[in-house]
Amino acid sequence: MARYTGPVCKLCRREGVKLFLKGAKCSTNKCPMEKRAYAPGQHGRSRRFKQSEYGRQLREKQKMKRIYGVLERQFRRYFDIASRQKGITGENLLQLLERRLDNVVYRLGFAPSRRAARQLVRHRHFAVNGRVVDIPSYLVKPGDRIQVREKSRTLDVIHTSMRRVKEGRLVPWLELDKAALVGTFREIPSREDIPVNVSEQLVVELYSK
Ligand code: SF4
Repeated sequence: MARYTGPVCKLCRREGVKLFLKGAKCSTNKCPMEKRAYAPGQHGRSRRFKQSEYGRQLREKQKMKRIYGVLERQFRRYFDIASRQKGITGENLLQLLERRLDNVVYRLGFAPSRRAARQLVRHRHFAVNGRVVDIPSYLVKPGDRIQVREKSRTLDVIHTSMRRVKEGRLVPWLELDKAALVGTFREIPSREDIPVNVSEQLVVELYSK
């Protein structure tokens, strides 16, 4: 599946918020958003115009895609699935994105960013319920156990990332056994429990035109 390979900090600057795409660097003063929190490009600083309703919807959709590292076609597919499900479409969409294996690996603290998590999954470092899964978009279900494979347990990137996981900071729908390097996806999260600052309603409005 295709993925964005360009400079990620530009994406934050374009959206005007920190999207936390680079792991540890995002929490330091090396983050470009600390000094250049304006859109990239020659006219980035001087762009001052009133955003239209469409513009706001578009920016919110771009932000959501960029946070989860999903490109347009796949994102649209998630939206179609979400709109066919029972319940609130925007919430369903976020729940689908949260169930992606790369996101779960990131949330468990096995990787410093979703990007890094995606690469680790691709390189076959994780098993779900005992079976190796190397598809970052794999949708995890309640009760699934996500485990670092035996041969990957000594990987520096995983241990460095795990050291940064603060006790009690794990999202409530996941459980982590740090010693065993095993996480459990307990349940589908509700909207209030998803710590992502986007307005999913604007995305729904955009796609519903
Ligand atoms: Fe965004 Fe992180 Fe780059 Fe800062 S360091 S601009 S938060 S990706």
